Amino acid sequence: MSIMVPSKTPALITSGRQALDSALHQLDQAAEQLGLDDGLRTMLATPRRSLTVSVPVRREDGRLDVVQGFRVQHNVSRGPAKGGLRFHPGTDIHEVTALAMWMTWKCALVGIPYGGAKGGVAVDPAGLTTRELERMTRRYINEILPLIGPEKDIPAPDVGTDEQTMAWIMDTYSVNTGYSVPGVVTGKPMTLGGSLGRTGATSRGVQIAALAALGRSPEGVTVAVQGFGKVGALAAQYLADAGCKVVAVSDVTGAVYAGGGLDVAGLRAWVAESGGVRGFRHADAMAQDELFELDVDVLVPAALEGAITEANAHRIRARLIVEGANGPTTPEADEILAAGGTMVVPDILANAGGVIVSYLEWVQNMQAYSWSSGEVELKLRDLMLNAFTEATSLAAERGLTLRQAAHVIGVGRVAEAHQMRGLYP
Ligand code: NAD
Repeated sequence: MSIMVPSKTPALITSGRQALDSALHQLDQAAEQLGLDDGLRTMLATPRRSLTVSVPVRREDGRLDVVQGFRVQHNVSRGPAKGGLRFHPGTDIHEVTALAMWMTWKCALVGIPYGGAKGGVAVDPAGLTTRELERMTRRYINEILPLIGPEKDIPAPDVGTDEQTMAWIMDTYSVNTGYSVPGVVTGKPMTLGGSLGRTGATSRGVQIAALAALGRSPEGVTVAVQGFGKVGALAAQYLADAGCKVVAVSDVTGAVYAGGGLDVAGLRAWVAESGGVRGFRHADAMAQDELFELDVDVLVPAALEGAITEANAHRIRARLIVEGANGPTTPEADEILAAGGTMVVPDILANAGGVIVSYLEWVQNMQAYSWSSGEVELKLRDLMLNAFTEATSLAAERGLTLRQAAHVIGVGRVAEAHQMRGLYP
């Protein structure tokens, strides 16, 4: 039996279902390369545990709203499940499953002892007051409490969540346990056991991957970044710090362009003040879609899934795409980009810096000890560059794209763990 991948996703199917189709397609290709049998393929294609919960939220005016929440543990054969928590109105069980699956391969690829998980709540956090958001977060965590724990499943920030969310989760879990358990989440504030270097870790990893893939001096290299949130804004900053010229960025509010290079620090300050990139005075406004068509050297998608599709892949002129986001490129777009000679550093490699430093944070929590930012950065760089070298070598050896090679390594390690452990009973 092979994994069923619809050749065309009907228009009515959600973006979450499209993300899962992409993840299954990528798994199928890797399984083919690895010669995995049908039983193992099916194990790897199906999540180990999926939980859907209803989360009642008492609004400030006394009304009761109920939102849906999810937690999916895709695979735990190599260690506890690990993965972010997303608050976004469009999230659904399919999207969360796809994101959990990518986490499994990512952790295996970079060689950290975790399986993959993801959580989501179908809500727009901007539509809630801080107190509503706190109540909702605590109730969601209470609903998924049997699944999580420092030895079981460790959430972290993703779209729409941040270190405050992690602090509420750590508190909710600790109150239920009866003592403080910092290792139940990563991406926490420093005062609760967070790690130095975690805030910018995903973006630092994007910078490391981009500079390694460029293979030349970054001086004057032009960059466009889609998404100016936790990952995109600091990726833009770190690439600018390295000498690149960030000429365009976008977010939900709009897109801005400056041919001579944006003042990224100034733009971050503007976004902190105004809520979005729109209206930044030292740049020209641009349509969001135009960002993908710019004649730049490097394109960094750092927003949501399905940003680069067969509809716009033909128009992309960047020679290098470094995926800060998870699942930004569909399989159809991948084929177009590969045929045109565009190099794509895939999500499971390019944005692995976040989970690497999350792992370092968890190790520090388990030892009740903390490392200097220099130690954290060194370990991050080592793990990123090892994975990059392994994936590029395999790609060259077998004539694969970097995404295919990264999946062969990640999926192969998880398959090997299953084979070595055997099946109980
Ligand atoms: P975030 O919520 O902090 O930021 C998301 C950004 O994307 C915002 O600026 C938002 O305005 C923008 N955006 C949304 N839709 C857009 C659109 N259509 N066009 C342009 N911009 C748009 O989220 P984040 O944590 O920065 O996550 C971004 C991506 O990176 C996600 O795919 C996430 O899964 C992935 N990721 C995050 C981490 C992490 O540590 N936070 C780690 C690995 C991967």
